[in-house]
Amino acid sequence: LKKIAVLTSGGDSPGMNAAIRAVARGGYNYGMSVYGIERGYQGLIEDQMIGLDQRSVSNVLQRGGTMLRTARCEEFKTVEGRKKALANLKSHGIEGLVVIGGDGSFMGAKLLSEMGMPTIGIPGTIDNDLAYTDFTLGFDTACNTILDAINKVRDTMDSHERVNIMEVMGRNCGDLALHAGLAGGAQAIVVPEVPMTAKEILAKIKEGKDSGKRSSIVVLSEGAGNAETLTKEITKLDSSLSVRSTVLGHIQRGGAPSMVDRRLGTTFGEYAVRILKDGKSNRIVGIKDNKIMDMDIIEGLKVKKVFDKELYDIATIMAK
Ligand code: ADP
Repeated sequence: LKKIAVLTSGGDSPGMNAAIRAVARGGYNYGMSVYGIERGYQGLIEDQMIGLDQRSVSNVLQRGGTMLRTARCEEFKTVEGRKKALANLKSHGIEGLVVIGGDGSFMGAKLLSEMGMPTIGIPGTIDNDLAYTDFTLGFDTACNTILDAINKVRDTMDSHERVNIMEVMGRNCGDLALHAGLAGGAQAIVVPEVPMTAKEILAKIKEGKDSGKRSSIVVLSEGAGNAETLTKEITKLDSSLSVRSTVLGHIQRGGAPSMVDRRLGTTFGEYAVRILKDGKSNRIVGIKDNKIMDMDIIEGLKVKKVFDKELYDIATIMAK
């Protein structure tokens, strides 16, 4: 392989730049020319390509977001759109593509592979909602961002003897709430996988209060409810409580990647180039039992996410 390209697609996540850098420098190591495609599949269709030599990825390792920018692209879901994309890759002599994104981007990558363009996916999403890999790129940083918010909110909640309902990202997957909630000492963790009524959440808050806790924090996945609504419901059920809500929103997507995500982005990126060089195609890269691995895209997307009930139960014990 002499020429490869890399793009970021779908939602951005901290560590994407580390992965882009690793593809550029990994490719350089094998004597390849590496190109960056801007704005995901949209830029691929519009032929927005830049050269990425070793120096053009200097000073990005520590930055959140993606230097190549990202986009959602409806046209790529059509055969005509993908034909244009493939023609652009071919006209530049590109022989392999690395796609950094979530499950939607992986579906696109699979279709490009089937059209004859060797394609490898890297899981870039803060939600940790891809089951074939233990961790996705950006999850750790987002957890740390939530943790920082929990710490700050706890100071003021404790001073005022208040309850805080903190809403975090995660529509179908409660991993952000679970991991950050456990690490932040949440009184209750409310996730889509384990639904809870306002009454049940209130019981947990009361349990803490009755055992002498001055304040408590409930971490709520966006897929399990809405912080403002829940705050109103709990206040209605028990007007003696002073409840406030915090919605973290897009803050969770940004920021300098953590050590874990810089390492993950770097090792994912270098590995993706290595397997492209070895002639692999239609694969997605992941980390399983602390080892970088790769899998067929469709097989990987078929793996069902299993909620970590053990961790959830430990968090419940720790809230006593
Ligand atoms: P993510 O990759 O973060 O899951 P999306 O689901 O928005 O984000 O997907 C990103 C892009 O991938 C879409 O805008 C589209 O261009 C492409 N894509 C998603 N699903 C498909 C599909 N079924 N077929 C082809 N392309 C797809």
